[in-house]
Amino acid sequence: MPPLFEREIESLKGVGPKRGALYRKLGAPTVGALLRLYPRAYEDWGSRTSIGEAALNEAATIQGQVLQKPTETRVRGGKTLYKAIVTDGESDLHLTFFNNRYIPMLLRPGQVYLFRGRVTGSFLKKEMLSPEFVPQGKEKAIVPVYPATQGLTSRMVCAAMEHALALLPKEVQDPLPAPLREKYGLVGLAEALRGIHFPQSPEELAKAKARLVFEEFLVLQLGLMQIKGGRRQENPHPVPGAFPEGFASLLPFPLTGAQRRTIAEAIGDMAGPSPMNRLVQGDVGSGKTAVAAALCWAVAKQGYQAALMAPTEILAAQHFQSLSALLAPAGIRCALFTGSMPAARRREQQAQLAQGEISLAIGTHALISGGTVFQDLALVITDEQHRFGVNQRSALAGKGTAPHLLVMSATPIPRTLALMVYGDLDISVLDELPPGRQEVSTYLIDSPKRQRAFGYIQKHLDAGRQGYLVCPLVEDDPDLPLMSLEKYREVVARAFPGTPAAILHGKMKNAEKEQAMSAFASGAVRLLLATTVIEVGVDVPNAAIMLIENAERYGLSQLHQLRGRIGRGPYKSTCILLTDAQNEDTLARLRLFRDTRDGFKIADADLKLRGPGDFFGARQHGLPQLKIADMANDMDILRRAQLCAQRLSPHLDEPVYEPLCAEIRRLFATGDQVVL
Ligand code: ADP
Ligand code: MG
Repeated sequence: MPPLFEREIESLKGVGPKRGALYRKLGAPTVGALLRLYPRAYEDWGSRTSIGEAALNEAATIQGQVLQKPTETRVRGGKTLYKAIVTDGESDLHLTFFNNRYIPMLLRPGQVYLFRGRVTGSFLKKEMLSPEFVPQGKEKAIVPVYPATQGLTSRMVCAAMEHALALLPKEVQDPLPAPLREKYGLVGLAEALRGIHFPQSPEELAKAKARLVFEEFLVLQLGLMQIKGGRRQENPHPVPGAFPEGFASLLPFPLTGAQRRTIAEAIGDMAGPSPMNRLVQGDVGSGKTAVAAALCWAVAKQGYQAALMAPTEILAAQHFQSLSALLAPAGIRCALFTGSMPAARRREQQAQLAQGEISLAIGTHALISGGTVFQDLALVITDEQHRFGVNQRSALAGKGTAPHLLVMSATPIPRTLALMVYGDLDISVLDELPPGRQEVSTYLIDSPKRQRAFGYIQKHLDAGRQGYLVCPLVEDDPDLPLMSLEKYREVVARAFPGTPAAILHGKMKNAEKEQAMSAFASGAVRLLLATTVIEVGVDVPNAAIMLIENAERYGLSQLHQLRGRIGRGPYKSTCILLTDAQNEDTLARLRLFRDTRDGFKIADADLKLRGPGDFFGARQHGLPQLKIADMANDMDILRRAQLCAQRLSPHLDEPVYEPLCAEIRRLFATGDQVVL
């Protein structure tokens, strides 16, 4: 459909520069993009309720006859109210409209109309304020509701959409060629677009949706496969296939069964005919670092090099500490590369890396910088992968020749999403926690109980433990009624006099961050006041208590990551969620979190509650945003699209698939991180 994608939105009737700007804000700079702006919901004008049965405070469609000519009253502030009463023969409904002088002309006494809006008032006198209405017989059964923005109502978008649909050429270029549509029972693009915007029936809507969801998944899958493609080369860095027992003997603890299985799977890949492409999913604390270390060991033993990339300096430093302590006795040299290290040292280490004197480079994305050259990079590991864009991963991989790739994810991504985001990676799951872990008890409290919680924390401190206090803000914000670290510093100084505390947040300089973190890790600091920067991977086993202020602010998966910072040692640990939220949905969400420990269940719940947007949020993956597919519900279509993508991918250069390739390019071009 390319021509319409080149046609500016302002070329539509009724869209000037001002509205054009609003459409751009909605993500529709062109007519083509507008057509791909799908309704977020549909109003159902088809199923009607009698006035007597209509529930208060809910939307309803009511058919009624206007009793007499609407009345007009002027009120303060220059407003004019128009009131009318309609009846369905049994009960009356009172309507009020503001400042709409056409009402007396539009609502004729004796005529029957359909009214749609929220029912207010009382059971004795039901009302609707400014309902939408159409004369009976003129209604459409299903009316689309579009994402609106200030100055642009769903109605306006609706009108523009009608114009846009009228512009569709007779022969729409369909990304899905006819034989493919036939095979999968999908309607054509023009029919799908008409059906998604202005369906005549629920069946038509369902067909349109099925086709568009399929297309979206297919394009995404194919785009991902192209990114990942070319990896099925020969394996230039084979390792021996036997289990690395030599590594296991370096560890102070026996590996868990899940760790052994995952290591064996990865070693099997690396010993195989093509490079490894594996995702390791493991809940917080499942011991992913040991898995990474085992593979680095295996690679280093062959004389190759490995790189481990972490999303934050804190985490990189921590990995460096534990891995170098573990691997140095085996004669494996590690080095840390971060943005804040002195230039001279970095240059020196870069030289050693280029000469192969350093076997394992650990760092942040500073590893990707131009000056970092490997002698023979054989293994690239990214930790907490959801923080990296697809292209950062490939940039690091580009520093070697077809290196093995291991992606470690601590956000237990629901399998549905994993399949989507990591399309052709093999997946290992670390589904077992190391023994002796203490369960973390979780409590949900409100602010009147804060002092009691502090008393409880004091007890843990007295017993020699440490704690995290998490706030959503760094500084007070008069517009946000949220706890800030700035304020909390005073609160804590009063509540825990004499207790060494430190602050940690993302806006601090790296050196300050490191100082705070290492003071906490060494035990000199007992309380760490932090934002969610600690969510990623921080490991201080003596920390056994955590208090999270404004818990309502966080997604479940994020809370799970935070909670994963405690219960890492042999001590009984407690996580306290503090919120004054009243909203029942919010409280239900937090209670579910309180009562659930399994990260996968939490992630699934999060996905259902918040939708996939969170996982795809802010284009962290560099993936295009899904417009229509809802992964919690569209699993079957996802599977079929995946199979289809696998079948199609070798044939994409055939001319019949050119429109499909154009669609892939278009979609992935907007995911600004992706390099195809
Ligand atoms: P994560 O999967 O969250 O990255 P880590 O690798 O940081 O987990 O491991 C969490 C803690 O568990 C660390 O302190 C680590 O030393 C310890 N650990 C890892 N594997 C084992 C094991 N098999 N037995 C005992 N402790 C382990
Ligand atoms: Mg980790």
